[in-house]
Amino acid sequence: AFGRGVGVRARVGARVGARVRARARAFGALAAEDAKELQRLVPRSVTDSESLINFNRDWTGQFEGNSPLVLQPRSVAEVQEALAYCTNRRIAVVPQGGNTGLVGGGIAYSGEVVLSLSRMDAILDIDADSGVVTCEAGVVLERLAEALAPHGLVPPIDLGAKGSCQLGGIASTNAGGLRFCRFGSLLGNVTGLEVVRADGEVLDLMNVCRKDNTGYPLRQLFLGAEGTLGVITKVALAAAPKPESVQVAFLACASLDAVLGALRLAKRRVGEILSAFELVDAVALQSVAALPQVDADRLGLSLRQPYYVLLETYGSDAGRDQAALGAFLEEALAAESVEDGVLAQDETQASELWRLRELCPTAAAASGYVYKYDLSLPLRSWEAFTEECRGRMEPYPDARVHVWGHAVDGNIHLNIVTPEAREDVRTALEPWVYDYVAKRGGSISAEHGIGVLKLGAFQNTKAAAAQETMSAVKKLLDPNAILNPGKILRG
Ligand SMILES: Cc1cc2nc3c(=O)[nH]c(=O)nc-3n(C[C@H](O)[C@H](O)[C@H](O)COP(=O)(O)OP(=O)(O)OC[C@H]3O[C@@H](n4cnc5c(N)ncnc54)[C@H](O)[C@@H]3O)c2cc1C
Repeated sequence: AFGRGVGVRARVGARVGARVRARARAFGALAAEDAKELQRLVPRSVTDSESLINFNRDWTGQFEGNSPLVLQPRSVAEVQEALAYCTNRRIAVVPQGGNTGLVGGGIAYSGEVVLSLSRMDAILDIDADSGVVTCEAGVVLERLAEALAPHGLVPPIDLGAKGSCQLGGIASTNAGGLRFCRFGSLLGNVTGLEVVRADGEVLDLMNVCRKDNTGYPLRQLFLGAEGTLGVITKVALAAAPKPESVQVAFLACASLDAVLGALRLAKRRVGEILSAFELVDAVALQSVAALPQVDADRLGLSLRQPYYVLLETYGSDAGRDQAALGAFLEEALAAESVEDGVLAQDETQASELWRLRELCPTAAAASGYVYKYDLSLPLRSWEAFTEECRGRMEPYPDARVHVWGHAVDGNIHLNIVTPEAREDVRTALEPWVYDYVAKRGGSISAEHGIGVLKLGAFQNTKAAAAQETMSAVKKLLDPNAILNPGKILRG
């Protein structure tokens, strides 16, 4: 788990908030009698200013909202009552999970009511045979992992925010995470959803079997909808068998081309057991190593190369996996794809190596204001892209370029860190970054979503007909546009 609100609140966050506020003005302020009625319908709520901060400020500290009322329903019936009332009274609602999203999507900028799913956190069923687990939306990912372990299962997704993010939140952002190459997308692993529509009707899309071809796959609509189409109240998820053998290596590489060479080789030599191939550059790793909770010396990392790779395998036979990994390493060293490395000797060391990767966002946030870009870009373009980016940052000696990402998925996290928010740095980066990936067939948001942060880039790069179709779907499901107004689509 990590602390909330690391980093600094800054002007740029306020600017984004102000833009959203102007568009959502049609809803007006929450009237006292509406607040009272909503608190009658949903008895658990938060209204005191000190506690509201936890819901009004996001993890990055860059987005700050002003909701006067957080409702904490404990049942689907309470969610239904609240949404039906809000639709009738045209009161805007922002669904919220663990508030770890990175694009400002779960924040209420215009005095909307926040609907927090945190109190709906029951694990309802674990089918150890099929691996399908059914949960309320507020279950925190790490708690699910703990509950699955005795059944020999693991969640089909893992990410650095696991101590706080909730199943409803990861489903609503269609989060990718650290083992995407092994488990695949939530679009495949979420077998069922229960969703409450804006008018309070329950959409029962639950299914505890993997296969279901009965008409349009409606549940897919809500995966990645960021709370704009409905409120997810239950999630059925296909968990995976816990691996018998986990091997972790932390490798140093001399260039991004060398990383690419190592990845090609890993796919050939350990492809069938590869569960992660994560990139961290030296700048990001140095800032992680500087965190008080990290003892990089103890792990024997030299920090002399510009790039590092965390390679993990999930297999069923430790002897066979170690032999395959050893053969890969020998070949990678001979080919100079890898210069040096550390092999985890036990579970503790493996999780310490993983922490180096997982703490990258925390370390960047602790160093200053972060311009975050979560991009899909073919791996062969990463070298030229990062070089051009560093060139663009040369006029700003304070700016540090941190690169990490899910290399095997072509998902690069580019983070420019400056001591404080600077509009000129943003202008040097945007729209250049977005145009660069769009021209190369990539994505301006590989896994974090659109929220408010990428609203402009989304509108500039997504095909007009696709945006029109999304607006039509939104109108159908939420005719009064009360759900998360100003996120993904302009209000
Ligand atoms: C340290 C760190 C590491 C991360 N690593 C990754 C990573 O590797 N891969 C990745 O994909 N993402 C990553 N993320 C971002 C990721 O999007 C979130 O961590 C997670 O998916 C959001 O879950 P949450 O419960 O916190 O949702 P929130 O932040 O509360 O909400 C996110 C969005 O979903 C909506 N929402 C939330 N709950 C519901 C619901 N029940 N019904 C309808 N809408 C809802 C909100 O309105 C908002 O638009 C990381 C974040 C952090 C802080």
